[in-house]
Parts: sequence; C-alpha cells; structure tokens
Amino acid sequence: MRAEQGHQFPPIPLHNPFRSNAPLQRLLLRLLGESPHLETIFNNLDLLADRCIGEHALSANKLKGVEDEPRLIQYDAWGRRIDELRTGEGWRELKAATAKEGIVAESYPLQKGDHSTSPSSQQQRPKGYLGRDQLGADARIYAFVKIFMFGPFSKLVLCPISMTDGAARVLELAGTPDQKRIISLLTHADPTKAWTAGQWMTERPGGSDISRTETTARPVAQRSDGNYRSGDSFLLDGFKWFSSATDGDIALALARTDADFSKGSRGLSLFLLKVRDPQTGKLNGIRVHRLKQKLGTKYLPTAELELDSCQAELVGTLGQGVKIISSVLNVTRLYSAAGGVFTLTHGLRQSASFSLTRQVGQKQLSEYPLHTQSLFRLTVLQRALQQLFFFNSGLLGKSEAQTANKRDLTLLRLYTPALKAYTAIRASESTLSLLDSFGGQGYMEDSGLGIAESLRDLAVERVWEGTIEVLGMDVVRVVMQSKGEALFVLVSDLRERLSHLMQGDNEGESDVVTLLQGGVDELERSSKILLKTFTDRNLAGSLDYRFAAPLLELMMILNGGALLLEQAGWTRKQLKSQQKASPLVPLTEDIALEEAHIARTWVMEEGELAQTLTKFKTTVEERARGGAVKDTSLDLQHRIVFTEVLDQARQAKL
Ligand SMILES: Cc1cc2nc3c(=O)[nH]c(=O)nc-3n(C[C@H](O)[C@H](O)[C@H](O)COP(=O)(O)OP(=O)(O)OC[C@H]3O[C@@H](n4cnc5c(N)ncnc54)[C@H](O)[C@@H]3O)c2cc1C
Repeated sequence: MRAEQGHQFPPIPLHNPFRSNAPLQRLLLRLLGESPHLETIFNNLDLLADRCIGEHALSANKLKGVEDEPRLIQYDAWGRRIDELRTGEGWRELKAATAKEGIVAESYPLQKGDHSTSPSSQQQRPKGYLGRDQLGADARIYAFVKIFMFGPFSKLVLCPISMTDGAARVLELAGTPDQKRIISLLTHADPTKAWTAGQWMTERPGGSDISRTETTARPVAQRSDGNYRSGDSFLLDGFKWFSSATDGDIALALARTDADFSKGSRGLSLFLLKVRDPQTGKLNGIRVHRLKQKLGTKYLPTAELELDSCQAELVGTLGQGVKIISSVLNVTRLYSAAGGVFTLTHGLRQSASFSLTRQVGQKQLSEYPLHTQSLFRLTVLQRALQQLFFFNSGLLGKSEAQTANKRDLTLLRLYTPALKAYTAIRASESTLSLLDSFGGQGYMEDSGLGIAESLRDLAVERVWEGTIEVLGMDVVRVVMQSKGEALFVLVSDLRERLSHLMQGDNEGESDVVTLLQGGVDELERSSKILLKTFTDRNLAGSLDYRFAAPLLELMMILNGGALLLEQAGWTRKQLKSQQKASPLVPLTEDIALEEAHIARTWVMEEGELAQTLTKFKTTVEERARGGAVKDTSLDLQHRIVFTEVLDQARQAKL
C-alpha cells in the first residue's frame, strides 16, 4: 500500500488561545469586571491571539531542529577572538515580536524618551498597549494574559524576556535616575531599539547557595570613605556558570565586594553591565567560554561566561545585592509558573481535538470514559493552576501599582515561590499524561504537537529560578523571619474567604467549604507546633525541613480550592442578579454547575488535600520530636541512601 492510501490523519487545528479558553475569559471578567478598559482588553487579547496562531506560530515553526539552534563562533579565520553568537531566524523574530506586542512594556508606565536618542520623545506604543498608567494594579494581569496567549508559540523566548522584565523592575526600584532611563529601552516597542537583559547569578560553587559567589568587583576609582554609591564604576572578574540571555544587551550580575566569605550573601553587590560596547559591538570584558548542551530549551542560548575586567556599575547599596535582585525573582518566578500553565492549557486543547477525531473500535476516542476521565483530571488541574496564577499576578500588580496593603505583600511573598514550585511539579508531570493521550504521535518530534519538546522544556522549570527544595526553603524563611506571622496572615485570609463562601452563593458546596476549613484549621494547628521548633533551644538548629514541601503544596491546594469556589459562586451570583448578561462572555446554569463540579473534584480528589495534610502533620511532628540529629527515621533514611556510595569511596581511598 502506498502511504497516500489507507487511513489518513485529519490535521489538528491550532486553537485561538483566547477564544478557546472561556474559563480564562470568565476569570478575567471576575477580576477586571469593574475596569473601564474591560472591553478594550478583550478586543486586544482577541487580536493578539489571532496573531499568535498566525505570524508568531509561523516564526515558531522556523525553529525545527539542530540547524536552528544557537551557534557560537569563537574565532574568525584570522585567529581573532570574536565570540559571535548566531541564533535561529525564528528566535530573532519571536524576540522582536515580544517588543512589538509589549510583553514587558505592559506592566510599566509609558516611558518618556528613548535612552539612546531624544530624551523628550514619547515612546512608540506596542500593540494593544494600555500599561500601568491606565490599568494600575490590573496591568500585571493583562500583561500575563498576553503572555498566556503568546507563550505556547514562544519557544522559550520568554526566558530572556522574563529577565528583561525583572531587570526593569529592579531598576525601577533601585536604579539611579540614569539607570532608570534604561527602562525605556527594556520596554521599547521597536525591536531595532529594544534591549533585553540577562541575570547572572549562578556560579560553579552553587546556584541555590549564591553566598559562595566567586566573581569579584573592584572599584575603578577608590572612594576614601569606602562608601561606594549606586552608579559607581567597577570591574568584574569571574566565571558565570549559566547565562541564558547571552544574546542580551545588558545584564544584572552579582559579584563579591567583600572578600570575607563568612559574610555570606552580605558580601555580594549587584551590578549593571552592558554586554557589548554599543559603538564597536565588542564584548565588554566577556569571553563566551561555551554554549551549554541542554536537555531542552534548545533554541535558548545558555552560555558559560568568563568575566575579565568587565565594566559595570553598582546598583543600589553595597552588600545589598541579593536583597535587591530578589525583586527580579518575584517577576521571573511568575513567568516560570505561566510557562507551566500555558503549556498545559495548550496541550489539553490539542489533546481534546485529537480525541474528537481519533477512531478506536467503532467510536471516537472521546466517547471512552476512561480516556475522558484522564483529560478531565488534567483539566481540573489546569483550572486550579490558572486561578492560582492570576490570583498571584493580581498581587504582584497591586504591589507594583503601590495599592497593596501589608496583607497583600505578605501573601505575594509567600505564594510566589510556592506557586512556582507547585506548578513546576504538577505541569511537568502532566505533560507525560498529555503525551500518552496522543499515543505514539505524542512521542514524535516532528508531529507538530510539540509535546515531546514541552516535556523537555518544562523540566527546566523545576530547576531555574530555584529548585523545588530551595523554593520550599524560601517559604520557610519567610515564615521564620516573620516569627510565624506570615503564615497566620495566610490562614486568616483563607478563613475569611471561606466564611464568605459559606454565606455566599455556594449552596450545595457547603461540604466542600467545610473540608477546606478543616484543612485550614489543621494547617494552623501544625504551624503552631512548627513555630515552637524554631524557638526551642534544642531544635532551632535542626536541618530537618522535610515539612517544607507539603507546606507549600498545602498552601496551593487550599487557595486553589477557595479560588475555584469563588469563581463558581461569582457565576451563580451573576446569574441570580439577572443583570443583562455580559456581552463578552456567556454565563449559563450549566457553566455554574461545571465550575462547582471542578471545585469539588479539586478539593475532594485531584488536589490530594487529605494526603498532603497528613504529610505536613507527620513531618512537623517528626521535627518536633527531635530534629535531624536524634530522629532515628532520618538516620535510617541517610543510611539507606548513602551507605554504599560512602563505603565505595572509603575503599577507593584505602
Ligand atoms: C537551562 C538553564 C538555564 C539557566 N539560566 C540561568 C541564568 O540565566 N542565570 C542564572 O543565574 N542561572 C541560570 N540557571 C541556573 C539555575 O538557576 C541553577 O541551576 C539553579 O538555581 C540550581 O543551582 P545549581 O545548578 O548550582 O544546583 P545546586 O544548588 O547545587 O542544587 C543541587 C541540588 O541540591 C538541592 N539543594 C540545594 N540547596 C538545598 C537545601 N538548602 N536544602 C535541600 N536541598 C537543597 C537542590 O534542590 C538540588 O536538588 C540556569 C539553569 C538551567 C538548567
């Protein structure tokens, strides 16, 4: 039989990421319903979504394989060191698209002037731009919906863009007036003028523990009082182990300004540097040592860099580098979480399309409950993550528009690392289920589904911007620094919202609310035991932080449940109020039922509330019983994991 004969697969269409996501539209209606810009926002997103499945998908399709991956040409034919980086055409187009679409700009006020030309000119506006001037606290939500639309076609170009966004935020918060002017380039709509930024933190001694950074910074001109100021010139020497924006224009780099390693991260300062001399195009005291050979993120140029008298200027106060760059993390961690959610959303649409056309026996695959059940479970997860993500985006937006109260800021600080870690775990695991929902085609590189690529790409979300363990520790740090106060703010916020739900439009769901309330009570009870272990003389130094992972998961499960119920309650309320139905998104009784069912499934099954509560309780009790040194179960675990390797190492030494 010829290949053209016999069964032929129908093509799987690309779905408009806005129109095919009615739950996202309803969520936006709930969050932005009062905004005078709502209709414009919906129209703009619709147009952007069309461009995504049109021109941006075409650019993404140009990145097809090894030949489109970045290449490093270190020497020219005359033996001169040039370190020329060549990226794929599709990559360059997608980078340009982020400027035109205002992916970064959307979260900032319209900048006056253009750093490189006339300081008085108003900057050109990106497509569909509203910005912080007009949207205030809602700007981040709008910006992240744009990212949701663009993301599935972005081929990881959003990685350097996230760092660009983070850099703009750092400069906005801590830059000198001159440094702040760079924001106009980081948010520029003209790709020929727009700059992107890298973030150079990780070094060989440790990415999680940057306090052992080896790169040093020496002042170009000594200040007799030793009191260096933001904007002062320094020269950096060192080796940066990971740089994912090697094709960027500027970078924020951490470097040691105090030779005393015992001072830890207090010996580190933050520096702003230009990667190349804008006039000559020559690298600024930088040699690109090597491009990384990675499992995924293949079109993203990640390099190892040697810094040799690289000219840089201090940002903020000496010794405060880690604190200052943390504002990048709030932004980049949300981009990372977005990556997990939009990949899952896109994959689910494709999988549903496939199931509707794939014939198994006498029926379509979609007719088999066993198959539908797997996709349903992934859909419940997607809905919960989508809610959690935009809840967090709203908090970030409030903090940037300076409308956040103390409670909002505490929740932002606690929820951001938790969301990033939880999404990284759940979304990367879900990609495997998505893969097998397509059968063999899911495993193919060239099917156009991109599932195999997503599997590799999503794995990195578990590592960069903090591994799962490190993010768990970050949550614990906030709790400890606030002497438990942060956790009680979270508990009281959840309690208040749940009691509201009990009184609101959630009849029929009171058992679900009660279950969540029980979870919050248990979270509070165990947290009180936990807090005592932080102050107990014998336990305070314990390294037993095994409770961190279940704590982080619990926060997400409880908040996810509350948010899904709030969404369902909101829909019911709209239906009851008998106001004129929104012309933007239809609301029906069926939708209200579906939303309630999703919330119920999340709390009762998919979120694994009961198991996570038990894990949290048990790990807290184990810590309270004796900590790392005395706890026999820890000794046992250590023995089981390490004995053989230790024995072998000992024998090799003999
Ligand atoms: C593709 C890619 C691109 C990257 N791009 C950049 C970039 O542009 N800029 C940049 O600065 N970095 C970048 N990174 C680096 C990334 O942020 C680090 O790899 C990450 O922070 C982990 O650091 P590490 O590799 O040194 O691992 P380690 O810190 O050595 O971690 C090893 C293991 O130890 C665990 N661990 C560490 N501390 C603890 C603890 N206290 N308790 C329990 N467990 C712990 C970790 O969870 C991990 O499992 C990139 C990484 C990748 C993979």
